[in-house]
Amino acid sequence: MNLDYKIAKVRTLLDRVQSDYVPAVFANSFGAEDMVLTDIIARYYPGIEMFTLDTGRLPEETYNLMREVAERYGIYIPVYFPESAAVEAYVAQYGPNGFYDSVDLRKTCCHIRKVEPLKRALRGKRAWITGLRRGQAPTRKDLSESEFDAGNGLQKISPLLDWSLPDVWAYLKQFDVPYSALHDKGYTSIGCAPCTRAITPGEDVRAGRWWWENPEIKECGLHPDKRHKTAVASRLAAAPAVSDQTQGVEKKEHGQAPIKYRVS
Ligand code: SF4
Repeated sequence: MNLDYKIAKVRTLLDRVQSDYVPAVFANSFGAEDMVLTDIIARYYPGIEMFTLDTGRLPEETYNLMREVAERYGIYIPVYFPESAAVEAYVAQYGPNGFYDSVDLRKTCCHIRKVEPLKRALRGKRAWITGLRRGQAPTRKDLSESEFDAGNGLQKISPLLDWSLPDVWAYLKQFDVPYSALHDKGYTSIGCAPCTRAITPGEDVRAGRWWWENPEIKECGLHPDKRHKTAVASRLAAAPAVSDQTQGVEKKEHGQAPIKYRVS
């Protein structure tokens, strides 16, 4: 499959999203794959909205790219932030970098800073679009281009699922699309600054994300691993919802002890 064919396939899928699934929204992380979709959606799909999540721990290069995108395409991409009370309670209990201490604390941080704001951003939408590729990680091999996302209650569309990393870079170069300066420093997948590092030649493209964890299990919760869906679902069901906890924290202001945030 050459690049033109793959682009045409993406356009066909997005045509269908714009005609059948509005309100639809593209969750833009400003990584290389998402810059392909940013370029296509900004140029051809005014009916598809975009948003981004600001976890509060993003690298400076991502903010620079946000500004570049706004200037290049003349668009404002709404930014969703985590609930401040939930972040404050987590930091009070586990410290600013508690996510290094265990997988559970890392997932709890991701839940507060990413998953809960994502759910708010998706509320009322019929579909969300992601830049996922099957080749990115073992956790993404079983995904489909269009599937119902039961966790969020809407259709999940991944138009780049069959693209290779060279396809992504060929597109960015051919259409002179802006991209994060971190990619030129060896970062293949970009997330929060403290949880992302550059990779070395031969490493998996997502090896730099939560590099201290087992690659078979690492996802942040935005795109749950279908292979472990049951286990994850039961663990989250056993935990109080973060929004509920947040309401609790708001009621416990003025020096009262913060509520503990635990996924399991
Ligand atoms: Fe927290 Fe790291 Fe997840 Fe960002 S990637 S939300 S800093 S654990």
